[in-house]
Amino acid sequence: MTLGSVLAQTVLPLAPRPMEDELLSSWLSRVACRYDLDGGALRGLLTTPGDDAETMPTMNGLDYRPAHQEIAALASAARLPVDRLSTLALKTANPTWPRHWFAWDWGVLDPTNGTERYADALAPGWCDLCLSEDHAAGRHAYLRRHWAYAAVGFCHRHRLPLRHLCPFCQTASTLRFVPSDGGTRLCCGACDRPLDEYATAGPKDGAASTSADNTPTSRAWSVVMAFETDLCRALSRRTPRARWMGRSRPAAFIAATEDLIVALTAGQSAYPREHAINAFDSDAFPSPGKFKPRNDLRYWACCVPMARRRSLLAAVVALLLDEETSALVSEPRFGSYRWVASLDWLFCWLGEDQRAWLVAQSAKWPELLRQRLETIAGEASVRRSAHHGRKASVQRKKAGGSGAGKPFPEETPDPPPSTLRIIGLQDAAHYRRLAEAILSSPE
Ligand SMILES: [Zn+2]
Ligand SMILES: [Zn+2]
Repeated sequence: MTLGSVLAQTVLPLAPRPMEDELLSSWLSRVACRYDLDGGALRGLLTTPGDDAETMPTMNGLDYRPAHQEIAALASAARLPVDRLSTLALKTANPTWPRHWFAWDWGVLDPTNGTERYADALAPGWCDLCLSEDHAAGRHAYLRRHWAYAAVGFCHRHRLPLRHLCPFCQTASTLRFVPSDGGTRLCCGACDRPLDEYATAGPKDGAASTSADNTPTSRAWSVVMAFETDLCRALSRRTPRARWMGRSRPAAFIAATEDLIVALTAGQSAYPREHAINAFDSDAFPSPGKFKPRNDLRYWACCVPMARRRSLLAAVVALLLDEETSALVSEPRFGSYRWVASLDWLFCWLGEDQRAWLVAQSAKWPELLRQRLETIAGEASVRRSAHHGRKASVQRKKAGGSGAGKPFPEETPDPPPSTLRIIGLQDAAHYRRLAEAILSSPE
């Protein structure tokens, strides 16, 4: 939104104070509900949108990096120091975090924005119990900043998955603040029920009834929450623990996590499940349906619904840990066969070009994980060489010519995946050359 003249003289007689860990849009919506307005409408009144005056004012773009001018207008209207509001902006609170590590609304993907098509609308989750505690303590209910982090799928305080669907009507609707006893409650925009009520209403769904006890599901959640904690540390340029990838620099930890998510969401039309992430459907991380994207995006984790994001992070954890913990996080709900996720499994699943891409990318990963992938790739190429050797010898016998079994042959049986091409990568031959340089050929 471009801002024109600002109505600096507008002062609101009543403006609740922001919480320290609150989203800016949450605060403005709480203020707006005192005047029977929605947050977007109040934003439109307090900060005159210049060129966009015709369009309906929304909250889009307010949380991430709001214009200083706009913050100044809002602060003055609410009789607050500018700093008190500007520190709520995501980019100020988390200056080292890339934009694709916040949770964007996938319903409003912007087709003009290349491979990073997520628009400016945030899609925060929420925790029933946190909202219920707000209500019980007579506080205003509010949306916590960390509920809009793409690296967080749980309430770490209550050790429960965050929600993005109304537990009463199962709609992913707009959230609405309503005044209540001098405070504010957060309600579902579709069925109007206060979302904190679910914590005290019974009976519960699976997510709410499995609390911090010692069930396999809660233990699996704990593992993934521990990974989320390290992911957030790394995004803030602090060193993550060695549990996941060995000793890791923050940037290397993030690079490996992002690349594994790309590999999990890369298309493979030759396989019935098409995307590796569709193989993950466990009791702890039930799949929210088949992942079948219509767009090509690189950073899927930032704009999928909360349940999908959790399952993506759980899948990354399953690939990184040893068999026992992997099974905890990824053991399938259906089918009688015992399937355990591993980096070897993912590598075998990927197409030739995708493997080469992953090997080339691993140059930026933590050393231990890079070596692990190198070993897997080396073993796979030995197997492939043996296979090609047998095939070539058969062909030689048939045709009398000579065949070569390179680790990454020039001809691929299946067309390369569109995702990797569209996300701005170089052609497959480039990665093949890189990968071949990394791997010493077994021949
Ligand atoms: Zn909570
Ligand atoms: Zn509802």
